[in-house]
Amino acid sequence: ESFHDVDMGEIIMGNINLSRYTRPTPVQKYAIPIIKSKRDLMACAQTGSGKTAAFLLPVLSQIYTEGPGDALQAENGRYGRRKQYPISLVLAPTRELALQIYDEARKFAYRSRVRPCVVYGGADIGQQIRDLERGCHLLVATPGRLVDMMERGKIGLDYCHYLVVDEADRMLDMGFEPQIRRIVEQDTMPPKGIRRTMMFSATFPKEIQILARDFLEDYIFLAV
Ligand code: AMP
Repeated sequence: ESFHDVDMGEIIMGNINLSRYTRPTPVQKYAIPIIKSKRDLMACAQTGSGKTAAFLLPVLSQIYTEGPGDALQAENGRYGRRKQYPISLVLAPTRELALQIYDEARKFAYRSRVRPCVVYGGADIGQQIRDLERGCHLLVATPGRLVDMMERGKIGLDYCHYLVVDEADRMLDMGFEPQIRRIVEQDTMPPKGIRRTMMFSATFPKEIQILARDFLEDYIFLAV
């Protein structure tokens, strides 16, 4: 078992080597080929399982190898633009988790043209806006702050082809369902079936099953 079983492109492969991940964890081993094959995914995996790289690696690899096209990609993450149109969105319940995902995204996007950004509540919004305006292809966000950014006209999800909902059970426990639905079900977001959607959750109770039914198209269920 090795990361070389799936071709993710030279840059990603180089960054995996730099990160010193030698062997994929079980969730990486199963989720990466599923995501690369463009199927939606519902994965039950705990923190510590390596789930972050399980979605970041194939998503990053898609957005710069075969994504929505180079020209469109450059246009979407254009420097100096007041409103950014990320190609990929990762929703996370807390600032800590959002920052961890962002750090991992920066590591794996190194030397690629993909620019990750992170926004979360409880911190200076002006600084986050200035960072977004430098270009954003992959956005990691907590739900409340993202809604705020959308209302301020700083983020458009019209070209969001890859959506990840991380720790979905915790998001519901924290009362974020209205914000998540507002983000995912808005008219400008590409509909399920057009965008690719991945949900991660430690547990799979009824409420998560309903969210999966609403957000995912013909999904593969993975439990590790
Ligand atoms: P996560 O479950 O995504 O929060 O990852 C838990 C920890 O495992 C993080 O510190 C990762 O950097 C690390 N990690 C993830 N995948 C691998 C891997 N294939 N080999 C070694 N460490 C890993």
